[in-house]
Amino acid sequence: MGWGVWVFNLCLPLDLRGRGVVGLGSEGRPLCPRCGQVYSWIERSTIGGRVYFYAVHYLGFEGGRRKTRKCYLGPSVYVYVSRTHGDVGLTFEGAVSGGRLLDYLEQLAGAVEVALSGGSVDRAGLRVVLVRLKRLVSRLEGALGG
Ligand SMILES: [Zn+2]
Repeated sequence: MGWGVWVFNLCLPLDLRGRGVVGLGSEGRPLCPRCGQVYSWIERSTIGGRVYFYAVHYLGFEGGRRKTRKCYLGPSVYVYVSRTHGDVGLTFEGAVSGGRLLDYLEQLAGAVEVALSGGSVDRAGLRVVLVRLKRLVSRLEGALGG
């Protein structure tokens, strides 16, 4: 098992590019997506070739030792969950992966394109997707003022 310390911001759900943070505390520091408290740093652990992340909350010194609390943030990629979503082309990422919302949208768009290029097209299903996408585009345009 290997441990490393990473200090970086987690992705903000509304930041499609993943360049933001989950939220900011009163001190302007990023908040842990697990407990909602300000975290001090991110630790990375490698177990059996897989990478897992933890938000570490520094609680101060107690009895001459540094006291911390860790919140599990998940792996870099959810391998087993992603296996069951291979038919729709989704690879699920952990909370520390910046830009995962945009990654998911891109993967779903790719799955729709594959479905369109296939011989048997579910026209009723495609209509449902189209209506939903039009509504999303409309809201995006509204949010951008256009
Ligand atoms: Zn936490």
